[in-house]
Amino acid sequence: MRVILIGPPGVGKGTQAALIGSRKGVQTLSSGEIFRREIEAQTDLGRLAQRYISHGELVPNGVTIEMMAKRLRESEVRKHGFILDGFPRTVKQADALNEILFDMEMPLQKVFWLQAPDELIVSRLSGRLGCTKCGAIYHSVNKPPTREGFCDVCNSPIVVRSDDQPETIRERLRVFRESTAPVIEYYKDLGLLVAVDATRDAEEVYKEIIRETD
Ligand code: AMP
Repeated sequence: MRVILIGPPGVGKGTQAALIGSRKGVQTLSSGEIFRREIEAQTDLGRLAQRYISHGELVPNGVTIEMMAKRLRESEVRKHGFILDGFPRTVKQADALNEILFDMEMPLQKVFWLQAPDELIVSRLSGRLGCTKCGAIYHSVNKPPTREGFCDVCNSPIVVRSDDQPETIRERLRVFRESTAPVIEYYKDLGLLVAVDATRDAEEVYKEIIRETD
């Protein structure tokens, strides 16, 4: 499988990436998740990324492309393919990805555009909780963990992401419209885009994605 999940923050890209990754054994490359791990490990890249992420802005293209190129070239990806979640987010990143995949002789199969109205996105993001260790995603109302404050999968603490505050959510939605919406047009022109109604529950969205790629 060689696919991209694209869509506004909170639309369910991370949830789908985790479902497909675990059930189909495909490597999930989530740029936001990779940045969060770099921040936690207090690397130079993490410190740089933090400055942008905390304001809901995009991390500069150069470092983002370099980081994702390195992950894409790993052997697991060459063997089983990839699910990209959160990358590319700009046309420059999409161009760079084209070159990397061309070199690797691994052409993209499909780009799934997950769609949902803003009100739903804001309500999903407002109650969102994430595992600090395995990245599993919960929601305080719609999908609470069995034991409050801890992950069902790995028992680590779950927390509200620092960029899931109302101010930052609004900025991330604005950045999506400005920088990432043109990427959707880009893949539409290449004939790779599949629009998916992401207001439905995660299992239904998952089934549709799998139907389109099997
Ligand atoms: P996400 O978990 O995908 O919502 O990403 C969280 C944050 O990480 C975003 O709001 C950006 O600040 C940063 N980020 C993630 N992916 C990218 C990307 N492809 N390009 C630039 N910044 C990114």
